[in-house]
Amino acid sequence: MYRHLLYATDFSPESQSAQARAVDVAQKYDAQLSIIHVIDYLPVSQLDGGLSVVPDLEQKLNENARDDITACAAEIPLKLSHKHVCTGSPRREITDYALAINADLIVLGSHGRHGLGLLLGSTANGVLHLAQCDVLAVRVRD
Ligand code: AMP
Repeated sequence: MYRHLLYATDFSPESQSAQARAVDVAQKYDAQLSIIHVIDYLPVSQLDGGLSVVPDLEQKLNENARDDITACAAEIPLKLSHKHVCTGSPRREITDYALAINADLIVLGSHGRHGLGLLLGSTANGVLHLAQCDVLAVRVRD
């Protein structure tokens, strides 16, 4: 019996089957559903030999991600408990956030933007290794 699901999306078409499954499982268990997107690209500039983030681009990426997560949430026929956007390593942020909100199931696609080259995508694989709760990697077909 699951009480709180965390659906991780990269907004790729491949995430759609994971989204449908997350909704289905949440409805079946009458569980809470939350959603996370991790911005995994940070434009950096080299200043005085050090690296720093380009501030305008960072803000733009954040705005786009917030718009995308709002659009994604609008497609989900359930009230979401949390809509979370953050920056960093997707596998680390997803598993840390699952702990923070006490999620007992992470739902994600077996593959996403990074393509079908591997047996299991790198994010799916990393989340499976780091998660302290169950993980449902929804099969993405080619
Ligand atoms: P990948 O392993 O990177 O091909 O992606 C597999 C799945 O992990 C995707 O279908 C998404 O469900 C999830 N995912 C990948 N990247 C992110 C991200 N940046 N933020 C949230 N979820 C992600």
